[in-house]
Amino acid sequence: LPTQNLVLRALIAADPRLRAEITPHVMRKGDVLIEAGQTIDRVYFPTSGLVSSTIPFESGEEVECMLSGRNGAIGALAAIGLEVAAVRSLCLTDGHSWSMPLPRLRAAVEAQPAIATVLDYVCRAQVHSGLRIGACNAVHGTAARLARWLLLANDLTDGAPIAVGQEDLGRLLGVQRSLINPLLGSLQAAQVISVGRARITVLDRAGLSAKVCSCHASLDVASRVMVNIPT
Ligand SMILES: [Zn+2]
Repeated sequence: LPTQNLVLRALIAADPRLRAEITPHVMRKGDVLIEAGQTIDRVYFPTSGLVSSTIPFESGEEVECMLSGRNGAIGALAAIGLEVAAVRSLCLTDGHSWSMPLPRLRAAVEAQPAIATVLDYVCRAQVHSGLRIGACNAVHGTAARLARWLLLANDLTDGAPIAVGQEDLGRLLGVQRSLINPLLGSLQAAQVISVGRARITVLDRAGLSAKVCSCHASLDVASRVMVNIPT
C-alpha cells in the first residue's frame, strides 16, 4: 500500500490526486535506483526493504551516508532543485517501492504549500542524516557505528530479520570485513543479535542501545520529524 511509506502517506493526505501519479516498482538487492552524478527523473518511496545512500569512490570503495526504508523518499532533494544526485541509491535488500516522475512532484510542490511543507521536512531530515553519519564515520568507533546501523535497520524493518551480509556491512561502514566479523560474533555471544547466512536478527534492542553512539538518538529525532510531518 502507498500509505506504508510515511512520506507518501503525508503527500497523499495533502493531495489525494497524487495517488494517480505513482507506479509500483520492485526492488532487487543490488539494484541502483539512482546513480551518483545522474540527473534524477523519478522519486522512489519504499514500502519495504532497505535502500542505502552511498558515496562511490574511484577506488571502488562505497561508504554509506544515509539508510532509508519506509521513511524514505529517494531522490527527494531533486524536488527542491538539487537534480543531480550527490549519492548512489542502492537497494540493500529486496523490497517494494512506489515511484513518481519528478516533474509531477515538482509541480505539486510549486502549486501547493502543504506539499512543499512535507518536502521541506523530508529534505531537512535527509541533510541532517548525511551530515551526522559523515561526522560519525570520522569520529566514532566501529562497534558503536555497527550498533547504530543495526538499530536503525531494525527500526526500518519493524524488527524483522535484516537481510544483509557481513561483507555489505563492512563496505557500508568503510571498514574491512575482518573487523566486522568479531564484533558481530561478540554481539551474538551476548545474545544481542543472531547472525545467519546473510541475515541478522536483533534479539535484544536494549542491549544494542547500550553500545550505540549518540548519533542514533540524533538520527531518531530526524526520523521522528518525518513521522510527524504535518498534513
Ligand atoms: Zn556516531
